Amino acid sequence: MQEIELLKEKLAKPSRIVITTHDKPDADALGSSLGMANLLKKLGHDITVITPSDYPGFLHWMKGNDEVKIFTDETPQDCQQWVNDADIIFALDFSVLSRINELGEMVRQAPGYKVNVDHHLDPEDFADFRYWSTEAAATCELCYELLVSLGYEELIDKDIAECLYAGIMTDTGGFRHPNTTKNVHEVVAQLIEKGADNSRVSKNIYDKNSLNRLRFIGYALSENLKIIPEYQVAYFAITEEELARFESKTGDTEGLVNYALSIEGVTLAGLFKESEDKVKISLRSIGEFPANEVAARFFNGGGHRNAAGGRVEMSLEETMKLFKSILPEYAQQLEEESKKV
Ligand code: 5GP
Ligand code: MN
Repeated sequence: MQEIELLKEKLAKPSRIVITTHDKPDADALGSSLGMANLLKKLGHDITVITPSDYPGFLHWMKGNDEVKIFTDETPQDCQQWVNDADIIFALDFSVLSRINELGEMVRQAPGYKVNVDHHLDPEDFADFRYWSTEAAATCELCYELLVSLGYEELIDKDIAECLYAGIMTDTGGFRHPNTTKNVHEVVAQLIEKGADNSRVSKNIYDKNSLNRLRFIGYALSENLKIIPEYQVAYFAITEEELARFESKTGDTEGLVNYALSIEGVTLAGLFKESEDKVKISLRSIGEFPANEVAARFFNGGGHRNAAGGRVEMSLEETMKLFKSILPEYAQQLEEESKKV
């Protein structure tokens, strides 16, 4: 409570504020960043939103998108300057500084007051004020609560409400995952009350496919999707060449892994995507199966129990060998969860 008062005091005078979020921002990352940015602008602050990388086109409708600085499009010197000059830095939707790539060390060294709003496990101790709960479905849910606690509820308008709604909608898998609590419904009810057009947000995010993307999904479902029935595992392994063939853009593989998880009896699903000499991994699981543990132990990553990810510097072939080699150790848990539903 005291920390909220201190933050409120700091926000009482116009300041330079940097807002940053994790690599390859999703709707929760960008929605919390732009929701917060739009509100803090109303208070007269000078806001710079910096993302470590680009993000999918289906997020570009959010208000303030045009002013976002993408680290890889700017010079590192400019980014360093913005971060160093900031009186306050908001770090949203990530718990460890390695999730923002080169920006991480800049933020660590920066003299400004650091606020971390997040719902991931095992937070690193880098912030002066942490508004953190792993019980929250989304960082956008926490941002809404923080804004209310700070006394800014009346400033939440339609645009801000839609940014926050987007993150909650996607991090709950469209209000379907077990993290879809009563509180989630209460918060989104408030956001709709404030003008969020829930149907428009959903259309913008889920129904803006290119024909290439749909053809790619069709191809991946028929050619890349494999199942290992004895371990209740299904996965996609996709080469860089295949992605290039369908002119795959950032965000085009978003949600693909859920098709693997939707197969009856599957406990753990994976998406393994080759990119230069790396492989990016997305894992999804049902029930108690710890996808985040698998991501952390074998793939330099982490995340939530049912949605995690990571990356390795190996060939796709080696990565798939590694993945298959770890399954026997989890055989019992994989089978147990599969039987529960
Ligand atoms: P996605 O599969 O959608 O990329 O990521 C799902 C979740 O896994 C994210 O919300 C995040 O919590 C976690 N995650 C994804 N990639 C990484 C990574 O490289 N490192 C860590 N620590 N977590 C990740
Ligand atoms: Mn999130």
